[in-house]
Formats: sequence, C-alpha cells, structure tokens
Amino acid sequence: MALDDEYHRRTAITRLDGLSQKDHELLQATVEEWLDGCNIASNLAWENEHSQSGVRKVAKGTVEEETNLGSQHSILACHEVASSIQSCIERRKKGKKATQPHFTSKSITYDRRTLTVFPEKEQVSLTVLGGHSRVRADLALPNNEDGYQYQYLNDDEWEYTETTLHHRDGEWYIHLGYRKKKPEPEATTQNGTVLGVDLGVNQIAVTSTARFFSAGKLNHVRREFEETRGKLQKCGKQSAHRTLQQVSGREDEYVKHVLHSVANGIIGEAVEHDCDGIIFEKLDGIRDDLPYADWHSIWAFRKLKKFVEYKAEEESVFVDTVNPKNTSKRCNECGSVRDDNRHRDEFECQRCGNQNHADYNAAKNIAELYLLRGHQPSRRRSVSQYALKSGPRTPS
Ligand SMILES: [Zn+2]
Repeated sequence: MALDDEYHRRTAITRLDGLSQKDHELLQATVEEWLDGCNIASNLAWENEHSQSGVRKVAKGTVEEETNLGSQHSILACHEVASSIQSCIERRKKGKKATQPHFTSKSITYDRRTLTVFPEKEQVSLTVLGGHSRVRADLALPNNEDGYQYQYLNDDEWEYTETTLHHRDGEWYIHLGYRKKKPEPEATTQNGTVLGVDLGVNQIAVTSTARFFSAGKLNHVRREFEETRGKLQKCGKQSAHRTLQQVSGREDEYVKHVLHSVANGIIGEAVEHDCDGIIFEKLDGIRDDLPYADWHSIWAFRKLKKFVEYKAEEESVFVDTVNPKNTSKRCNECGSVRDDNRHRDEFECQRCGNQNHADYNAAKNIAELYLLRGHQPSRRRSVSQYALKSGPRTPS
C-alpha cells in the first residue's frame, strides 16, 4: 500500500447467495478468462520488467483481444500484474530471488465500474465476461444485525472500492473493499488553509488552485539572449566584450521582471483563496539529474521564492517548504505512489486511472503532504486544509 495513504481501509467478507446454475457458470468462466488475462499480461510485462513501462500499455490490447474480458477487467488484470511485478522488482532490489508471477488462484478483482453494491437490498451486481452482462447475487449476511459487515454497508462515509471475488469449496465469497477518508489533521486554534506551489521548466509555477504560470515566453527570450551572447563571444573584440556584459545584465533584468510578476500572481491566488500560507518544495534537495536543471532554474526558483516571501509578509501570509519526496509520483486522488505515474506533463495514476496535468497534481500534493506530514509552523496558527480546484486542469 502506498505511503501517505489518506484512507482507512476495511474489508467486509460475505458469501454470495441466490445464484442460478447459469450464474455459477458465468462467474466460473469469468474467473478462467481473468486468469488467462493475468498470465498473458504477465508474459508480456515480464520481458519489459526492467523498463518498468506500464503493464497496461504493453498488455491491455492483447488481453482484450485474446480473452473474453471486457475493457475494464482487462485494465484491472494489468494493474494486478503490475503490482505483482513491482513486488518482484522490490525483492530483487533487496537481493532476493523473484520469479515471473503466475496466476492460478480462483479469484478476480472488481472495482466500482464492474461491481455495484445495493446495501438496502443486500445485493451486489457483478460484470461477467465481455462486460455486457451482469450477475446479481444476494449477500449472505449474518442474521444478527451486529454483523460487522453492516457498519460498512450502511454507512455513507465508507465507500466501496477495489473488491475481490473468490471461489472456495464450491461457494462464492466476496471481499468487499471499503475506504473512508482519514480525518484531516487537527487544527488547534482555527482552521487555516495553505496554497501548494509546484515549480518547473515548462510551467514556472503551478498552484494547487490550478493557476498556471507558463515558462514559454521566458524560455524563448532566454534562448534569444543565448544566441546573441554566442555571436558576441565569437567576435572576441573589446567592444563585443562590453556588449556581452550589457546583454547579460539585460537578461537578468528580464528574468527578474518575469519572476516578480509570477510572485505577484502567486500572492494574488493566496489572497483570493484566503490562504494563511504558501508551500513550496524544499529546494536544497534538488538533484542535478532532475529535468529542471536547464535554465539556471535553481537560481531562478530561489529568487522566485525570495520574492514571494517578501511580498507574503506584507499580506501576513507565511511561506514554508515540504520535503519533495513523492510529490510528483503520488496520485493526489488515491495516494498511490509509483514511478510510472508521470510521463512528462501528464499524470496518469496506474492504480485509479486519475488523469491530470502533472504539475497541477504535484502542486496539490505539495499542499496535502505538508498537512499530512503534520507540519506545524511555529508562531503560526495551525493549518488543516489546502485550496484546490477539483477535476482535471490544463494550462489555459
Ligand atoms: Zn490514483
């Protein structure tokens, strides 16, 4: 399970009842197809294990073609295989042996698209085979109202999520997965709000409220300055040297001007959304191999943070930082942390399918991880929430 998981998770296990002979056969056939699908995906993914490229990308099409599984179950089979392969990779890292995962156990995974729970009727409906038909079954719940399953079934705060169906001794058992948001970190004085800000090469900054500050023009102008400098350097004359210094001075002025306006924009977002604090990633840990080593970016990021700090003080907004660990790999929707969740500007969670602009996902994580990791800025009131916009966002 992912680090920083912000959900409580429980499983409610119950036998299924009221299935006809035909239902049995359909479920049986679905499990067979599922195992085939997982093994096909495992074969395809095992060869690519070292690239860690998404199992879904290499295998989903083939699983759909070669089995009778519907599209969603093909995706779920790929996810199942991906997590098995991930644990193989982790075993290898620890110097242990790992062999290709092979799937034989009579069980199948369901999610909210392939399973519906009807708590009042005490029934579930399950997608079978191609996804066009469903089997409806009764939940054989304990007669006693105290059956622990009821607390999840009958409570709106618990939502059902990934679930598995098992065939044992001729009976079907469903392990209904439930989750509930953990309470937000406690606020001792007054609820406060923070704004998360992600810094990057293509977008100078993206806020957790989905404000994008593009680096397009800045990068373009910097390239032009670079060309001019290149020409002057070739020239080598004394006068050219003086001009070169002037050009560099003008470039610095231009960059500062852009950073000032981004800083103003960030402060504007914080004020507009009633934020008490602005959270950046800690910059000291930034490694050289990160993509933003391009345009003296670390220098620029530090400048930007300084400008923000300076202006924030006037607005009585604090500025703090969070450890950058996992902020770009973590899915802001489900908390899953994976290396292959991010591809350049695009974020796609391999667990829950959440898609969003990668920097925007990161900005929300910066704010959320700041809260989840229990930062309590000294001399300041405690914060318990962060400002955000919901749904996928792109630079406008
Ligand atoms: Zn997710």
